[in-house]
Amino acid sequence: MKTFSKDPSEKNYNYSPCPVCGSSKRKLKWDLDSYAFYKCLDCSLLYQYPRPDQEELTARYDNEYFDYEIENEEKFLSLMKKSLEDIGLRDRVKGLRSVSPTFLDVGCATGVLLENMQNEGWNVKGVEVCAESADYGRSKRGIDIINSPFEKASFASESFSVIHSSHFVEHIIDPVLFFNEAYRVLRPGGFLVTTTPNAAGFQPLVYGSRWRSAIADHMNLFSLKGLKTIIKDSGFTLITWKTWGGIPAGEAPLFIKSPVDRLCKALGIGDVMVVLAQKPPV
Ligand SMILES: [Zn+2]
Repeated sequence: MKTFSKDPSEKNYNYSPCPVCGSSKRKLKWDLDSYAFYKCLDCSLLYQYPRPDQEELTARYDNEYFDYEIENEEKFLSLMKKSLEDIGLRDRVKGLRSVSPTFLDVGCATGVLLENMQNEGWNVKGVEVCAESADYGRSKRGIDIINSPFEKASFASESFSVIHSSHFVEHIIDPVLFFNEAYRVLRPGGFLVTTTPNAAGFQPLVYGSRWRSAIADHMNLFSLKGLKTIIKDSGFTLITWKTWGGIPAGEAPLFIKSPVDRLCKALGIGDVMVVLAQKPPV
């Protein structure tokens, strides 16, 4: 049995089956210092096993995490805006927006994207498990952010036209619950944007366990195919998807990095992926 340097008693860890398909058939993929990723032999999800429980996980999103979010928020905002452009969200949501300009960001951190969307005329709300980040977004930006796990935020059914989540689904214990809850609170015809690392991309293939997304805070690492399946199985219609990122910044000169990045994008094996899905209109 694995031992954990962070928590030798393992009292805050669960030996639960694949969080997507429930299978207990798994194979060790990457054995890291104090945690490990296994591959589900039935649905191919890479998941951390054993997994910290919610209490242990929530405790990780503390002051240190808040500092990290603040330091990087301009960079994160620019990446999120780029991905929304990439999937053409603005044009696709035009009709629905004129009826109900409601935008929810799940895992919204300090509310940097929400502030941007609010400036564009959206009525915005956020959910964030890190108390410091939620406080900052509320007090400095005046954004309505609920400090809670998404499924405990008790939003009314069919209350949003767009739900956005960037680098969120890889951090949570139960991704299926997330997609079901997103479906419930979206208006018919509403859009779901999901951005997360691509476990079937170029980088994990090359770097293996040294891949920058094989970190202790990531519970689930999806392939593009696997993510599309979960989203479809939750009732959504897939609209479009993109991947981006080939060679990590600083690891190769630009004349090599740029064409590799373009090729990864063209082949759908970029390091990060975004999937746009729609709840069927009634
Ligand atoms: Zn599975």
